[in-house]
Amino acid sequence: MADATDKADKEKDKFSDRADLTDTQDSSKNEAMEVLNAQWHKVRSRLRAELGEATFNSWFKLLEVAGTQKGRVILHVPTRFVRSWIEAHYLTRIRDHWKSEDASIRRIDIELKPEWVPADKKPEVREQKAVPPRRAVQPAAPRAPMPEMPEATGRDDLGAPLDPRFTFENFIVGKSNELAHAAAHRLAEGNGVAFNPLFLYGGVGLGKTHLMHAIAWEIRRRAPERTVLYLSAEKFMYQFIRALRFKDTVAFKQQFREVDVLMIDDIQFIAGKDSTQEEFFHTFNALTDHNRQVIVSADRSPTDLEGIEERIRSRLGWGLVADIHPTDYELRLGILQAKAESLSRRTDGSTDATRIPQPVLEFLAQRIITNIRELEGALNRVIAYSSFVGRPITLEMAQDVLRDLLRASDRRVTIDEIQRRVAEYFNVKMGDMLSARRARSVARPRQIAMYLSKQLTTRSLPEIGRKFGGRDHTTVIHAVRKIEQLRDEDPALDEDVDLLRRMLEN
Ligand code: ADP
Ligand code: MG
Repeated sequence: MADATDKADKEKDKFSDRADLTDTQDSSKNEAMEVLNAQWHKVRSRLRAELGEATFNSWFKLLEVAGTQKGRVILHVPTRFVRSWIEAHYLTRIRDHWKSEDASIRRIDIELKPEWVPADKKPEVREQKAVPPRRAVQPAAPRAPMPEMPEATGRDDLGAPLDPRFTFENFIVGKSNELAHAAAHRLAEGNGVAFNPLFLYGGVGLGKTHLMHAIAWEIRRRAPERTVLYLSAEKFMYQFIRALRFKDTVAFKQQFREVDVLMIDDIQFIAGKDSTQEEFFHTFNALTDHNRQVIVSADRSPTDLEGIEERIRSRLGWGLVADIHPTDYELRLGILQAKAESLSRRTDGSTDATRIPQPVLEFLAQRIITNIRELEGALNRVIAYSSFVGRPITLEMAQDVLRDLLRASDRRVTIDEIQRRVAEYFNVKMGDMLSARRARSVARPRQIAMYLSKQLTTRSLPEIGRKFGGRDHTTVIHAVRKIEQLRDEDPALDEDVDLLRRMLEN
């Protein structure tokens, strides 16, 4: 009897043991996935912070964790193009970030997600199939000239002239402009409409116009029968207003709709100009509906284009959004060296003014970090001075000549930039930086932005307060203290702040 009970108990134990075991297996599997997802979340935030919102959205938004196996993480992507781009450019970065989360991870594998079509893209794909593309295969077959449109002169009048220096050969590629360059190059090679539109954005003087002209030159060279139209948004507006005035809008529309490639530079200019926006939108749709390429540049991302209608902003983000980041030292030095070389080639390097010692180039690359236009300006100034006073170029002389310029470039991080970066990093709206909302999810990023403004700029507390929606300076003091305290207590937050600081200072 005792035996029987014993046995029954043992059975029960065994059974419940086993039940426990399956439970543990299941839940440990779930937990493993949870851990993996949490790690992915962190890796993603780092990538977003490092690469900026637009790049991040272009490549990583659709990436998913599929699982892990013996030190290898498997990620799924929707298309081959995305896979090969990520593999070529971001694999080590992803792996390194993952390793710092979990030292046992040694490999990241990117695989195609089977049969994957984003739900919101399905109708679009169908539509594209229904309308036969005008030019499915590139290069295009030569086509009949269009009688309505006068040859080159008419087009040049409509568009703007191209700068002969702005070619791909003269464009130096570095980490900060690699994606924009690759996308531009790919369009210029003309293997079909890979992404439409191409949206290039970045701060002033970082090479947006240069890249657009380079695309135009290259297409003219490879496929002269294709019509490429380049113009600034300002000129687009001017042409449009003129057409309205002369009641000539039909011809206006016609001209724009007949090009193969339309490039509009500095689209932010049409912010707040409602009828121009409207016209641009129609032109844009007409062109993309017929598989013609549209390329647009701006000083900020589509989502940040205030004063431009939501439907246009969203449409602008449909293709490939490529941002050009601020330059790094290597790129700046590369550009200076190329420029110095071409100068000495042109003048055979016999005069002192065209022989630029390496330390001078290094000095410039180190100190002129605002943008490439200023970098070129500084070099030109040194050369001009040297030839003017007949003195050879030396480091000392360059320092002398550029004194005021250098002082100006020391004050480079602005509060706006800090707000933008912080908002981007924490995925809150730029408007929330200035709003009165007190929810922790926006209040904390706002405090971090105030803290960084105090650390990285020379602005006073009241000035900072004003920049954050007219707050009092005591609010700023409170934010600074709070973040100082949290940096001691919360390592994750400390890391966030540190990362942001490094990004802003770079
Ligand atoms: P943006 O249109 O972005 O304001 P630009 O295209 O006008 O800037 O570039 C400013 C200057 O810097 C131009 O003279 C351009 O040739 C030069 N530049 C920009 N990026 C590069 C690059 N990667 N390599 C060489 N020159 C560059
Ligand atoms: Mg420009």
